[in-house]
Amino acid sequence: MNKITNHLPTAELQALDAAHHMHPFTAGAELAKKGARVITAANGVTLTDSDGNQMLDAMAGLWCVNIGYGRKELANVAAAQMEQLPYYNTFFQTTHVPAIALSAKLAELAPAHINNVFYAGSGSEANDTNIRMVRHYWAAKGKPTKTTIISRKNAYHGSTIGGASLGGMSGMHAQGGLPIPGIAYIDQPNWYAEGGDLSPEDFGLERARQLELKIAELGEDNVAAFIAEPVQGAGGVIVPPATYWPEIQRICDAHDILLIADEVICGFGRTGNWFGSQTYDIRPDIMTIAKGLSSGYAPIGGSLISDEIADVVNNAGDFNHGYTYNGHPVSAAVALENLRILQEEKIIETACETTMPYLAEKWHALADHPLIGETNIVGMMGSIVMTPDKSARAPFKSDAGTVGFICREFCFENGLVMRHVGDRMIISPPLVLTTSDVDVLIERAVKSLDQTLAKAT
Ligand code: PLP
Repeated sequence: MNKITNHLPTAELQALDAAHHMHPFTAGAELAKKGARVITAANGVTLTDSDGNQMLDAMAGLWCVNIGYGRKELANVAAAQMEQLPYYNTFFQTTHVPAIALSAKLAELAPAHINNVFYAGSGSEANDTNIRMVRHYWAAKGKPTKTTIISRKNAYHGSTIGGASLGGMSGMHAQGGLPIPGIAYIDQPNWYAEGGDLSPEDFGLERARQLELKIAELGEDNVAAFIAEPVQGAGGVIVPPATYWPEIQRICDAHDILLIADEVICGFGRTGNWFGSQTYDIRPDIMTIAKGLSSGYAPIGGSLISDEIADVVNNAGDFNHGYTYNGHPVSAAVALENLRILQEEKIIETACETTMPYLAEKWHALADHPLIGETNIVGMMGSIVMTPDKSARAPFKSDAGTVGFICREFCFENGLVMRHVGDRMIISPPLVLTTSDVDVLIERAVKSLDQTLAKAT
């Protein structure tokens, strides 16, 4: 077989890919008909494909490349760490310097009451850890019946059996016998789609109070925790009404329920603060982290754990749980360098002062487009909802997502990576996006919306 490199013709790469590579969240048979887009290089906010096309990546990969592509410092740190100590584990009373240094840095960045981290290879694994950690914590405190975890419909918490069960995605639950027992669900705070005649404020309270009703139904002594993303990401960048999180916090405090903030997307600057919990004034007991922790340059995730939980768990003997790659030295070194760059270059502060307000203004102006029923944005994650009837907040009658799919394909043609979730188009660009990049993003988005309008209505 020829050596497989970037220099092979695209069609040949696509044929090999379709023949041997099973992709996540993809209908494999489609790949044989229409090959996958082959990405060969990236720099800053720009991707290059195997035909030399360049695209502005308004999704930062999968919501993760917060510092942008092409930072050689991370490559150098990874190479140096591979030479020094490519692997060692952190089981059975061993550790290594990258894990020590990253843990200390995370304790410094996290809210004051959170000073502990349990590593994982990904956000999904970290959420699996959370399921076991909160149940173990309550058992160690003499409350072994507190096991049920309450989550939300249309939440995304990963793809492992535990993560996908915590998530509330019906399409995922339909495959593989999910969810596992011991998870309960309440409705999501999606005012546009589900708010009816309520004001966003009243709707936010109504949805938060479903948590209190669910706790009453299950019995407080049976509930371990509530888990939620500060802003639902994969569900379609659903920004909660302002009344939602304060009420959720009140309910968790009143009923002795742990609060797990899944910060896998919201963490590391995405919402304009280090953590989404700070943006929404949430006081979590556990925060799930991944993605922006290493800006996606190396796989790593983890659970940031409050001192109260760590104290109980640390004094309860062995926690019989761990992954071969817990705190992997290369990933930890890369993450630490990523955090150094985010902090020393003031990437979050700069984005807050310049690009985020500029992007918010331009993004909200998309509401004037005939196809757009609602715009949402917080920090650098945003959504627009396409509708055939703005005043009725009506969804398209075609199969859910068809219009979104059409729009996404026009975006690609126009050199813009946006994702669609049903009729919602979403963005989550690198935090290093500049105001002139915003102009390009908006120009290409408007062109794609115009083409979608012409084709789909
Ligand atoms: N939690 C949230 C909020 C996510 O958005 C994701 C991934 O998109 C995950 C967990 C799962 O993370 P991973 O894909 O690293 O397993």
